[in-house]
Amino acid sequence: MATRLKGTNQDLGRPYNRRIVLEAVRLHGPISRAEIARLVALSPQTITNIIREFEEIGLLTARRETPKGPGQPAIELAIDPDGGFAVGLQLMRDRLRGLLLDLTGAVRGRIQTDLPAATPDTALPAMAAMVQRLRAAAPGRVLGVGLAMPGPFDVEAMSFVGPTTLAGWAGVKVAERLRQVTGLPAFVGGDAPAAALSEAMFGLGRSLRDVFYIHFGFGLGGGLVVDGQVHQGAWGNAGEFGHMPIVPGGRACSCGNEGCLETYVSVHALRTALAEAGVALDPADPGAADHPAVAAWIEAAVPPLRRAICTIENLLDPAGVVLGGEMPEPILHRLAGRLEPLLPSVSRRSDRTHPRLALSAIGADNALVGAAVLAISGLLSPRSGLLFAEAEPAAVPPPARRATAIATEGRA
Ligand SMILES: [Zn+2]
Repeated sequence: MATRLKGTNQDLGRPYNRRIVLEAVRLHGPISRAEIARLVALSPQTITNIIREFEEIGLLTARRETPKGPGQPAIELAIDPDGGFAVGLQLMRDRLRGLLLDLTGAVRGRIQTDLPAATPDTALPAMAAMVQRLRAAAPGRVLGVGLAMPGPFDVEAMSFVGPTTLAGWAGVKVAERLRQVTGLPAFVGGDAPAAALSEAMFGLGRSLRDVFYIHFGFGLGGGLVVDGQVHQGAWGNAGEFGHMPIVPGGRACSCGNEGCLETYVSVHALRTALAEAGVALDPADPGAADHPAVAAWIEAAVPPLRRAICTIENLLDPAGVVLGGEMPEPILHRLAGRLEPLLPSVSRRSDRTHPRLALSAIGADNALVGAAVLAISGLLSPRSGLLFAEAEPAAVPPPARRATAIATEGRA
């Protein structure tokens, strides 16, 4: 894992070097300068210069270890939990959720409000108010705001149409509007890629660099994490595989295909199955996982999802497949259990050290956490800052003279 964090000693590589040094501290801190140098293969002088810049803008803290023997103990560096914050927002079918995340990935505040059938006219003022409240609660500067919404984006017959997406948002420049109403650098992403980003930064991605994440939003999405970064695709929809036609002659889907995966495997599919069975049950109710109608849905969902996972594994050879999102945890847990044994694929190896399938370590909040990570990922990760569209360049409110330089350099 560490070998992938190599720096470059050429001058053009400076923004990249800053980011990999910060990434090394994030993943391995508290850590000494010598250990950073070994991990990122940069000269000690380069690392010292970069660390000094980060200390000046308050992103890193340094402390001297208690001496274990003779000689001066090394200075250990770590991300400063109060060095910066990001607001994450998640717009769902019936509500808006928000949280305040610090640079170590800890949630420092959380709000939610009912907002059924949100349109831009109702949602944007609610988002502005929510950001204002979370910002007031932040014990330090807020670097930006990220918003996760159901994807895919800008795909005719899939975006903002059909039962699993939000109506009224087609053609709206959401990031720009969000920046206008909040005054913060604003980032927008699909809920599935955002959740994948949170898994990459703070979940299983901390130990596995290549994973495929399957997201249960109201529909079904996903995200491909390659070398610790979310792969975006040509139009930002990579991994949105809910509309993969997987059952020949199967259920008609709003996208025009038949037998799409998400018509069998999604929260929407579960609710439809319960309605068709005449069962008045909320999947979130305690004990819902034990209901025979839910068990029947799981049995119907397993074959198409097994086929989809087999396809993903053969196509991408991930270190693991992660399941997560808004499906109530007891049901997701039971579904994951029923998926075993998985179909044979290239992932069936005798030398595996971890299971092919895992549940999200972050849980049902991962898209919301990922929304906040959208806003700080440019600062924290070597490459992901280039992945997501921001409303306007330039950005981090400068608490010290060098902050602006670091925030804008990655775009060159
Ligand atoms: Zn479809």
